[in-house]
Amino acid sequence: MKKIYDITLTLTPELPTWPGEPGIQLYRTGSLEHGDSANVSKLEMMVHTGTHVDAPSHFLPNQPGVEELSLDALVGTATVIQIPEGCNTITEETLKAVDFRGNQRIIFKTRNSYYWQKGETTFQTGYVGLDASAAKIIVECGIRLVGIDYLSIAAYHDQIAPHKILLGGGIVILEGLDLSLVEAGNYLLCCLPLKLQGSDGAPARVVLIEQ
Ligand SMILES: [Zn+2]
Repeated sequence: MKKIYDITLTLTPELPTWPGEPGIQLYRTGSLEHGDSANVSKLEMMVHTGTHVDAPSHFLPNQPGVEELSLDALVGTATVIQIPEGCNTITEETLKAVDFRGNQRIIFKTRNSYYWQKGETTFQTGYVGLDASAAKIIVECGIRLVGIDYLSIAAYHDQIAPHKILLGGGIVILEGLDLSLVEAGNYLLCCLPLKLQGSDGAPARVVLIEQ
């Protein structure tokens, strides 16, 4: 049996969110305890909370929503790349050490995964993300999907340029992964975001399957 790694964050009200955004709310609108015929829950959340994908329309005008993302990009062989502990921003320089040949889907494992392992409940502005120079390299290498283990692919103080470069290059961005139990290497990636019409992002269940 091939091992399946669930790299999805569990959605709880305590999960850190982007500063200023509310956490999820899941509450009962029907309850057996209160005499209703079934338990029925209602979910309220931002589409960029927890493990999720970004659609081109997140940063670009007149671009497709999440329902149009290609399943061919979302499912297939992916390479988990370990970023050295001391790296605070992934740049062109960082990626020079990485061999991208043949990879269509890449996932950066950084020190960010420790936050999830520790159960950190406050947003960390010092997370590892990439800059515009790294985004350009990723587009040039013909990558179709790029993932990372924090709530944004881009470094905290530099959101717009990296997102625009990646989304403009037709790359699916996968954010909020927990890679603490996954080692570098090749896996089968299955990333299935909710099919929300016109949405700039969507929560996803994401697994890596041993090859
Ligand atoms: Zn996002």
